[in-house]
Amino acid sequence: FDKFKKGLEKARNTFFGSIKTIFAGKTLDDETLEELEEILVMSDMGVEVTQKILKELKEFYKKSDDSDPLILLRDIMEENLTNEPINLNPTKKPYVILVVGVNGNGKTTTIAKLANQYIKNGKSVVLAAGDTFRAAAIEQLKHWGEKIGAEVIAHEHGSDAAAVAFDAVKHAKAKGKDVVLIDTAGRLHNKSNLMEELKKIKRVVQKELPEGIDETLLILDGTTGQNGIVQAKAFKETVDITGIVITKLDGTAKGGIAFAIDHDLNIPIRMIGVGEKEDDLQPFVPHEYCDALLG
Ligand code: GDP
Repeated sequence: FDKFKKGLEKARNTFFGSIKTIFAGKTLDDETLEELEEILVMSDMGVEVTQKILKELKEFYKKSDDSDPLILLRDIMEENLTNEPINLNPTKKPYVILVVGVNGNGKTTTIAKLANQYIKNGKSVVLAAGDTFRAAAIEQLKHWGEKIGAEVIAHEHGSDAAAVAFDAVKHAKAKGKDVVLIDTAGRLHNKSNLMEELKKIKRVVQKELPEGIDETLLILDGTTGQNGIVQAKAFKETVDITGIVITKLDGTAKGGIAFAIDHDLNIPIRMIGVGEKEDDLQPFVPHEYCDALLG
């Protein structure tokens, strides 16, 4: 929890920290609620979620007039987040995770961090270098693989991403490997092409493993606000996203974005990225998240 809390320091010390100040020694009057509204909207929580939370806070506060508004708010915030963490100890073999998202959002870094967690849990990991479009992506993944001790299956730059995914899954199945993480391209300027590529990856994996892909993770940059939600909707239309990872939450004061993502996309947030190193990925636990934000 300490690492989690440290990663959210900026958010805690900026918007969310000021909630404590406005609540201090006051009852929940209209002025306080207005100030709270402003803080929540500024934290990227989005207008809809902010209104919902304010409404619930008012109702609960009325019902229990001696309660601490900060504790009430924390509980309500927590209830507005879905608690469905990623499976870090899958028994199914190989457990296949497809990782999608726009370039620069932290896809490759997140794959490395996630692989590292599986390895720490005693699992063997195969990484599929499926971003065959961006020249440096294959090298970057190979570099991470060496660093954390994961095998990397790669073809040449420009080759068919689905073929790489197929080879990785086939290899994992033959060698009894536990987890396969498939990297993908994130070029948005050629969106329809990319979406076809993602669909093809799903199809070929299913050829080798009839149960198909176990988890499709969308990587979203937590610092991009509403823009990230627009991106996510584009991916959601084509691929069946089962979980979200929000990266770079250490670099933003706007920790409210998690609420907007949960509400607008209706996909559980599985993990959050709180730094650039291999162990800077934390399971998303709403209770801890709200505790860390409100300090
Ligand atoms: P990709 O293009 O989506 O594969 O993105 P990369 O994995 O290459 O990441 C882009 C940049 O974001 C790199 O400089 C990463 O170190 C950085 N990055 C990724 N995740 C995080 C995070 O959680 N926190 C911080 N501070 N930086 C991150």
